[in-house]
Amino acid sequence: MAERDYKLPIPVADEESRPFFEGAKQRKLMILRCTRCGTWRLPTRERCADCWSTEFEWAQASGRGKLYTFGIMHQQYHPSFAEAIPYNFAFVELEEGPRLVTNIVDCPNEELRTDMPVEAVFDDVSEETTLIRFRPRSLTPGPSPSQRERGDRRSG
Ligand SMILES: [Zn+2]
Repeated sequence: MAERDYKLPIPVADEESRPFFEGAKQRKLMILRCTRCGTWRLPTRERCADCWSTEFEWAQASGRGKLYTFGIMHQQYHPSFAEAIPYNFAFVELEEGPRLVTNIVDCPNEELRTDMPVEAVFDDVSEETTLIRFRPRSLTPGPSPSQRERGDRRSG
């Protein structure tokens, strides 16, 4: 992949979130699953919301979900975001249940709608870091995202 001039702050993986970022590099959305009752949760949650257990395993989520809610940022809260304004921030509710904060890509801000189906895309912002964002997903079952990408990018 070509080098990119990515200026926004890049999140740094700590011990607890490392499997999430390692998974992202391998095109996997990794979240926690309670080993007692099977409820999914994000690494930010110490305990299962269902059975209060602290036991978990890292497991691959489907990457599919829906746009739960979103906002458009017009104000500059951080100097490095100046060129990105206006940008969206979104809460995506995964099929597995947890909601995560992300951005919606491949969609003009004006076309964002709550409940629209979305799927994870993996954005290599640096050699070390891949961020997980989401893009609109068609409602009708069609080719998998990878097949669609191959079709879209014939002139590599
Ligand atoms: Zn549980």
